[in-house]
Amino acid sequence: MCHTLASKEVEPFMSLSQLARAIAESPTLSLNEQARLLKEKGEAVVHLGAGEPKNKAPIAAILSSAARLNTGDVKYTPTEGIPSLRKAVIRYTEENYDRLVAPENVLISGGAKQALFNLLFTLLNPQDEVIVLAPYWVSYPEMIKMVYAVPVVVKAGDGGFVPHMKEIEEAVSSYTKAIIVNSPNNPSGVMYPESLIAELVEFCERKGIYLIMDDIYHKLVFDGKLHAPAYRFTTKDIENTKVVVINGISKLYGMTGFRIGWAIAPRQIISVMANVQAQTTSCVSHILQAAAEGALTGLQSVVDALRLTLENNRNVMIQELKSFNGIKVTKPDGTYYCLPDFRAYNADSVKLSQFLLKKALVVAVPGKEFGMEGYLRLSYATTVKDIKQGIERIKWALDPSSPNEIYIGDRKLVRDWL
Ligand code: PMP
Repeated sequence: MCHTLASKEVEPFMSLSQLARAIAESPTLSLNEQARLLKEKGEAVVHLGAGEPKNKAPIAAILSSAARLNTGDVKYTPTEGIPSLRKAVIRYTEENYDRLVAPENVLISGGAKQALFNLLFTLLNPQDEVIVLAPYWVSYPEMIKMVYAVPVVVKAGDGGFVPHMKEIEEAVSSYTKAIIVNSPNNPSGVMYPESLIAELVEFCERKGIYLIMDDIYHKLVFDGKLHAPAYRFTTKDIENTKVVVINGISKLYGMTGFRIGWAIAPRQIISVMANVQAQTTSCVSHILQAAAEGALTGLQSVVDALRLTLENNRNVMIQELKSFNGIKVTKPDGTYYCLPDFRAYNADSVKLSQFLLKKALVVAVPGKEFGMEGYLRLSYATTVKDIKQGIERIKWALDPSSPNEIYIGDRKLVRDWL
């Protein structure tokens, strides 16, 4: 049979899974790639898109993983994780959540991302619904779709970053299996009020709906505020609660590349999640688990140091944004991010993000990807110099009242589009 080249090119693509083809590219990772290519060409890119800080990994993590590597004995580990790391997670849970859990309630995964995926795969049947609160982390809707379930987005009617309990209740149907909460929140940086967390716990346990708490930023909270764990609001024990917690070392210790996260859940859920993980990845690398154990059992002042740096950076960014005509910004309570409203300049955040990258060499992630069109997510997990330069460049590109000349790298640029 004779095939043309064109049909050969089309055919393999058409034979891919419809579901897999429907999964969106990660917008943050693809912007990172565009920025990397520009940097490679020598362009002076300022990156306000990063979901990771600039710090070095804690020394305790490095030593612990190096010690394991030096033994030369790096083999498969138990699927659920090495016992000493699970023990460290149990201690962490006791200290930070005031909950004593058993090893059977803990699963170590390749990042919070994999823990969350294993959990969704374990909980959801096709067509089950999961409530996602906007603004939301980009991966939630895509992961939910990956297991043939349906994301139901709830957005605050008042235009703010915290949906009201009544709005959440109205979105619940007989298909609702879970609600995902990320507080403090990527991308807005806001922490939900304790009263909302309490209401969510009460509601979910009454209705038999899982409450998935993505606590990945829970210690990166500013202004002396404290994160209130959902466990505080349930009287049920770990085997009977509907609260499931996802956490990890990526954000708290700035150890994004070590890829360690975990889930805390009733043992029945953990044992099915472990089967899912066993059949897909077997286990997480022993070296990286050793690093995570080092981080969790080492000096915790590294987390405080990171938090203080971020708080200072947040202050600088807010200060810079306040002098920006037309921009509305909500002061973040924590995380790496803030989510200013740029609708006064451009209601299309994807176009605005591409414009800023092209004209001002600044990376900012479009709010559309987080369910907040017209906003941009700006990360302050970078240097103060980059924060100041980045905002100055955005101002130059958008605000006609700002000076129309700017130095970007060693080039003087003149704004000729306003
Ligand atoms: N949840 C949220 C809200 C995040 O922002 C991220 C990382 N961007 C993750 C989970 C995934 O973290 P990990 O690196 O542990 O997979």
